[in-house]
Amino acid sequence: MGQHHRIVIVGGGFGGIGMAIKLLEDGERDFVVLERAADVGGVWRDNSYPGCACDVQSEVYSFSFALNPSWSRKFSPAAEIWKYLRDVADRFGVTPHMRFGHDLREGRWDEDARIWRLTTSQGELTCDFVVSAVGALSNPSIPKLPGLERFEGKVMHSARWDHEHDLRGKRVAVIGTGASAIQFVPEIQPKVGKLTVFQRTAPWVVPRGDAPIPERRKRLYAKHPAAQRLSREIVYHLRELTVIPFMRPPLMRVLEKVAMRHLARQVPDPVLRAKLTPSYTMGCKRILISDDYLRSLGRPNVEVVTSGIAEIRERSVVTKDGVEHEVDTIILGTGFEVTDIAIGKQLFGRGGKSLTEAWGNSMRAYLGTTVHGFPNMFLLLGPNTGLGHNSVVVMIEAQIEHVRKAIRWMKKKDVATLEPKREVQDAYVSAIDAKLAGTVWNAGGCASWYLDATGRNSTLWPGSTIAFRRAVTHFDPSKYEAGKKRAERVHPRTSGATAAATV
Ligand code: NAP
Repeated sequence: MGQHHRIVIVGGGFGGIGMAIKLLEDGERDFVVLERAADVGGVWRDNSYPGCACDVQSEVYSFSFALNPSWSRKFSPAAEIWKYLRDVADRFGVTPHMRFGHDLREGRWDEDARIWRLTTSQGELTCDFVVSAVGALSNPSIPKLPGLERFEGKVMHSARWDHEHDLRGKRVAVIGTGASAIQFVPEIQPKVGKLTVFQRTAPWVVPRGDAPIPERRKRLYAKHPAAQRLSREIVYHLRELTVIPFMRPPLMRVLEKVAMRHLARQVPDPVLRAKLTPSYTMGCKRILISDDYLRSLGRPNVEVVTSGIAEIRERSVVTKDGVEHEVDTIILGTGFEVTDIAIGKQLFGRGGKSLTEAWGNSMRAYLGTTVHGFPNMFLLLGPNTGLGHNSVVVMIEAQIEHVRKAIRWMKKKDVATLEPKREVQDAYVSAIDAKLAGTVWNAGGCASWYLDATGRNSTLWPGSTIAFRRAVTHFDPSKYEAGKKRAERVHPRTSGATAAATV
């Protein structure tokens, strides 16, 4: 295998696998998928904490072209989704294109050679196109708590769960009460000696209504895939309707009532209930779904602490009210680096600027996919493609369509480089910002990771996924600057640094 590839995909999760499948469908063979870990799966490989499951129904949390009739539950457990991704990668012939243990260190656009020069943990390679499929939830966010490094017990992040670490009988601190914590807290609560949950902001929680999928339904789906497709369409469109209150926050009051009833049913103690009552408009942060989280917080071995963490000592967490909580283990359910994505500092476009530098700390892309100054680069789940109401796989598939159409068009027109026009990208981003202004994410009275360091919402798509699909699955060449092929192209191996190893 040579060291130059037509296409390099970074990341072997939903995005990378889906992109690879569609490239194969288009007859592309000269591509590799760089994956830093030893297996495919992305977040569904990395997140193995007890109770980890998708909070979007199984029907819609799979590729539209690879439905899975054997999901065991209404909300698929992480291990099943990981297995699904491994199966799909094998079944569609992606696995031979995977390069495991290849961590992208840096990618630089070479304007003379019109190629990307990539440095990985295993050596260097070049390519015509780079597709980032690293997602938004790949790097854990470790909070800057004073003294955390001094702690002598075990510290683990929810996305790096150490299953060898026995929690039985231990005094455990959980920091964070987001989508991950609410899944593992009810699982570990019966096992641990004492559980102290450090809550900074009370989340809105609604019932999940999880249940096993009956065997007869699985048989029906296996025998008649159309039945599963119909079920998927129904769930998808019902979820689409739920975007309306996110766009018109006063409508959230109806759902807030559902959540308050759920809280009252699960937490009879008024003091604890007061602590768990949110103080912002529902939806401003991700709405959490759980049938047992709130109830588990009322168990005798659980304490919910809301006074804020002052520091961590060798064997304890000290809160701002001066109380010292002795603990053996600290579990960080503190989320991910979403608005400061690592790939932003790794990809350098024209003029040697990194994405982060070009963005000025606020991510911007045309259709969440392409960035001016970064030719032949595509971002799956790039800026403003996140969702609060539906399956993100729908967004990934729409973006993959855009990438395919762009590459096919370039081939047909014999075009060498492609990037969005500056004014097109600026107008697109301004329109997104204007749409986001009145939404619950921007105006709901909370501080969430949807907003970046500059206060901009650079993470969420403001609208239905139907609207996103309509905009993104279409490829309009007039929105792009296209660079024709040069008569004599500089050979990748003769321009710039010599490759150190073959990838
Ligand atoms: P998260 O939603 O970002 O929640 C992080 C939690 O940690 C919040 O409660 C936050 O408090 C708290 N926190 C962060 N820094 C802190 C600090 N310095 N001191 C105290 N508390 C701190 O993270 P997550 O729960 O891992 O979920 C991340 C995303 O992953 C979700 O939004 C969702 O998109 C995805 N997810 C999906 C599923 C699924 O089923 N599909 C499951 C899990 C996660 P504040 O609220 O005060 O900031």
